Amino acid sequence: MISFEDAIVKGQAPDGGLYFPGTIPQWDKRFISDLNKLTQVEIAQYILKPYTCEFLSDNELKVLLEEVLTFNFPLQQINDSIYSLELFHGPTLAFKDLGARFLSRLLQEKDKREEPTKQRLVLVATSGDTGGAVADAFYEMANTSVVILYPSGKVSPLQEKQLTTYGKNIHAFEMKGDFDDCQRLVKRAFQDPYLQERYNLTSSNSINVGRWIVQQAYYAFALSQWSGKHPPAIAVPSGNFGNLCAGLLASKSGLPAKQFIAACNSNAVFTDYIRTGKFEPKAAVATLSNAMDVGHPNNAVRIFELYNHNYAALKNEMSSYSIADATVTKTIHDVYIKHHYLLDPHSAVAFAALEEWIDCNNGHQGIIMSTAHPYKFQETVEQAIQEKINTPKPLTSLMQKKKISFPLAIDYESFVAKLEVLCN
Ligand SMILES: *Cc1c(COP(=O)(O)O)cnc(C)c1O
Repeated sequence: MISFEDAIVKGQAPDGGLYFPGTIPQWDKRFISDLNKLTQVEIAQYILKPYTCEFLSDNELKVLLEEVLTFNFPLQQINDSIYSLELFHGPTLAFKDLGARFLSRLLQEKDKREEPTKQRLVLVATSGDTGGAVADAFYEMANTSVVILYPSGKVSPLQEKQLTTYGKNIHAFEMKGDFDDCQRLVKRAFQDPYLQERYNLTSSNSINVGRWIVQQAYYAFALSQWSGKHPPAIAVPSGNFGNLCAGLLASKSGLPAKQFIAACNSNAVFTDYIRTGKFEPKAAVATLSNAMDVGHPNNAVRIFELYNHNYAALKNEMSSYSIADATVTKTIHDVYIKHHYLLDPHSAVAFAALEEWIDCNNGHQGIIMSTAHPYKFQETVEQAIQEKINTPKPLTSLMQKKKISFPLAIDYESFVAKLEVLCN
């Protein structure tokens, strides 16, 4: 067993495994019934305290969360049965902002107590949104370099700007491969004794418990605004399954939910698993919801662990649907025309999945986790609704900034060589 602070610093276990809570905290019934009376900070503080209590005092945790939770997570009604929890009001307009900000503040807190002896190297593979959120959260952090690996040509133009325009301590590696290739290089780097010796290696992918566990708060934020008679079904657009897995962790702690729905695009490894009981990672295929183009979802093992590797138990509480791009486009269009609500492609996957589930579970209501702002995927959204949407001001100036990236082949040696040149 290792401490929470060691787990966030290491990110990943030395044997390549993922850290997992030793015990799962149980929420008070009062906490659940009083959710609607609590602030976001109070909710997050309650949920996180059992994890952080040996590292942060109550007040330190509160102050840290006040710095992190500077934006809201409103629940919007779309139609009679479907609500959207908007997770995209943070600085990079994607839900990963919360996890990345929480993690960077935790590490800062750690540095305050122990003078770091080596440079921190944050290594992150991104299929789109992680890189931007991590760049924003770690920008200008002392003694820290960030190296972001992203698949060339497979992220949206806005996402690419968010990865490549920070400069200073943020370095973007533009890889000739897909997300899984990037992830493989990062995994290998973490097991490389040479890099472990030279740097203080930190992973900020959703495998880092710091990023992972704070996402439980989303589900409690959703419930705190929920006025439905029965607990909602919750559909989560999933790629690496960090977000969904946080929801499941929350449910094991007592969060009431009717059902969890793993909403996948054509990368259907998990949907196939739910159907067949066989988990068979595959190469990723490119889709309109590119942040979910993952063929080997890292957090799946945590989900299996949460259910003690009991497939029947898991299948009882979870459903999964794989939604094709054509349905995504149609969903964005139809929801906009019928309900005047604009979905991004990832949230549209969740909407379509939840609709399918409701079709078979008449009378139930549910929530989709809306993971990105529609403006982040302007082209796809405009094509779907056959209308122009206006780019918000802050994004216009971002689009005018100059991209700086380092193009690289998927080759471990050249990756390490470049890394050492930039981060010395
Ligand atoms: C990362 C991301 C996802 C997938 O989240 P996971 O936790 O990896 O399953 C979904 N939507 C958007 C917009 C994302 O950025």
